[in-house]
Amino acid sequence: MQIEAPFNLVETPAFVYDETEVDRVLAITRRLSAETGCKSCYSVKPLTLPPLLRHMASSLDGFAVSSPFEARLARECLSGEGAIHFTSPGIREREVGDLTSLCDYVSFNSLGQWRRFSGHFSRHVSLGLRVNPGLSFLDDERYDPCRLHSKLGVPLKDLAGWQNSRHSNLPRLDGILLHSNCESTDFSELDKTVRQVKEYAPNVLEEIRWINLGGGYLFPRGANLEPLVAVIRGLRSVYGLEVFLEPGAAFVRSAGYMVSSVLDVFFSEGKSVAVLDTTVNHMPELLEFDFEPDVNGHQEDGQFEYILAGCTCLAGDVFGEYKFPQPLEVGDRVLFCNVGSYTLTKAHMFNGINLPGIYALKEADRLELLREFGYPDYESRWTTYASSPV
Ligand SMILES: *Cc1c(COP(=O)(O)O)cnc(C)c1O
Repeated sequence: MQIEAPFNLVETPAFVYDETEVDRVLAITRRLSAETGCKSCYSVKPLTLPPLLRHMASSLDGFAVSSPFEARLARECLSGEGAIHFTSPGIREREVGDLTSLCDYVSFNSLGQWRRFSGHFSRHVSLGLRVNPGLSFLDDERYDPCRLHSKLGVPLKDLAGWQNSRHSNLPRLDGILLHSNCESTDFSELDKTVRQVKEYAPNVLEEIRWINLGGGYLFPRGANLEPLVAVIRGLRSVYGLEVFLEPGAAFVRSAGYMVSSVLDVFFSEGKSVAVLDTTVNHMPELLEFDFEPDVNGHQEDGQFEYILAGCTCLAGDVFGEYKFPQPLEVGDRVLFCNVGSYTLTKAHMFNGINLPGIYALKEADRLELLREFGYPDYESRWTTYASSPV
């Protein structure tokens, strides 16, 4: 099977991100900012590649992170201007120093963490709380921040009560963070979420300075952004709030490809199996969340059907069943699409299978090799101290 240039030029397995596609989404957030005055950040956890972060930094107002490591890497990639927004369900006391020096906005995940740590942050850090608006839009609770007994954020009613009763000598609550959806393209859900906050905690909106609407929404071609524009304008004009967005997957999901080669093809009890030189461990969410990735050239009425399988010893290391108009042969390439988010950042070397090389696809189909991995990377994970008494 043929795949298009330049995907046929890379050594496989390879992760390729298309910078032009990232730029398409950056243009959307820049236009949103121009039209509404909101500020846009990139939540780095879907794809945390420094060259990409540096490329994005000049079009954004900062990065959103959830650990001191992410904070440090993001800070190193910010070009002077721009802010680091931090939230995490588990801040440790020993991290507070690093977080103070690396971050501009910190949203505590619970009232307990606020009580314990808010007094330790110096004044230049703007302090907020992550709020759980309690409105679910997802069927699968594994990625629903508003699931029953959620660990993510202060329930709205608790926040409203706390805001009324708190001591004035505590640090001021500057803002709130809402992040309550996943891969949604329906911004009316965000409108409903904000209405929920207005209904249950109107006093909070009156007193804070900023609101971060989180991520969890995609910006595909032709997306209807009107509800988003209206929500931002409303928050700015009625409450005078500074509004932040921190999408993650929206910027990189459609920009990412995994290029693999067929290593073997055989029959297994009536079905053809094609073993690839990649593995689901290069995209672990396939197993975690049980979905099948998009494959270039797959056609519902294709005559040649294959189980695409990964090359580890795990029986379940399988991508799914796909149909092609031509047969697959050893050496052919198989191209996975829309796999830019939560793949490379979760990929690992189980079974000693090397990680994919990383390539950037620049304007005019110019490919740049950014990184190859090898035995030293594998070995370094398992290097231990000769002797280290505790
Ligand atoms: C993961 C995360 C994001 C980005 O989510 P996407 O679904 O990738 O847009 C934004 N904010 C917070 C707090 C997150 O945990």
